[in-house]
Amino acid sequence: MITFLSGGTGTPKLLRGFRSYSDDQDINVVVNTAEDVWISGGHMSPDIDTVMYLFAGILNTDTWWGISGDSFLTHKALLDLGTDEYIAIGDRDRAVQIARGDLLNQGKSLTAATSILCRNMGVRAGVLPMTDSPVATLVRSSGNYIHFQEYWVRCKGSLPIDAVKREPESPPAATKDVIEAITGADAVIIGPSNPVTSILPILECQGVRDALRGQYVVAVSPFIGNAPFSGPAGELMKAKGFSPSSSGTYELYKDFLDLFIQDERDTMTVPGAACLDTMMTNEEKCRGLAEGILKILPAHTG
Ligand code: GDP
Repeated sequence: MITFLSGGTGTPKLLRGFRSYSDDQDINVVVNTAEDVWISGGHMSPDIDTVMYLFAGILNTDTWWGISGDSFLTHKALLDLGTDEYIAIGDRDRAVQIARGDLLNQGKSLTAATSILCRNMGVRAGVLPMTDSPVATLVRSSGNYIHFQEYWVRCKGSLPIDAVKREPESPPAATKDVIEAITGADAVIIGPSNPVTSILPILECQGVRDALRGQYVVAVSPFIGNAPFSGPAGELMKAKGFSPSSSGTYELYKDFLDLFIQDERDTMTVPGAACLDTMMTNEEKCRGLAEGILKILPAHTG
């Protein structure tokens, strides 16, 4: 059993590759929920949805969000009615958000709601929200904190940011399922997800770092040199006071890490790191990286 820690792009690409080598039933994914928002009456959990749709075989792998071939009739109708739906939500994607919102409003935990949605979508992997408590990543621009989704989607990441924080500031408890998925795994893999907005929120959940210390943990860098493959990871690392690079990523994980993997083109060498082709630009390259990692993992994880 391998357990992954995931955001909504880099690690899902790696999961796409691993699915060729492992049965979905042998994979657990602990997913970041600090980008969740209630929007237009539904509950959006973008990273959970990407992972769930991947395992359901319906993910739009051009964008790494939403459902392949989805229509946007309701989104357009809402805009025509003058609403401020700043995220383009597909119709089938919205159905999932409404169903999740209903389950939460009935008093179900996010873990229970996710499990029901997964079952109804035929997902056989374990998709585990990092916590059942609401938590959000906020970024500060010109003195004001705004939700990460506002910064990234509404403002297209164009605002200068100088601080990042979680709300509430006291770390939420990881769920029991999350701790069991980590402590019961043969290996834990942190894919190349954004350290600040996807992986640190998981590591901050009470119990997670301690659970990782007892396990064989591999992490893949989302940077080549001091540039991320995509997205705002560089700006966010700088706003947190970390080096926006593979070295900076390694520093964040080194207290529990057994193996760091960086891209073979990366000129900033992290001592002891394995170098592989981490550019997952198509399905074959996703498989290639998964295969490379599996060759390095200790034998008992096979
Ligand atoms: P988000 O929730 O959509 O922000 O997604 P993640 O946090 O899971 O992933 C975003 C990170 O993935 C970015 O920092 C990218 O640099 C990284 N990333 C995306 N594609 C690749 C890739 O093919 N290889 C590597 N190494 N990193 C990638």
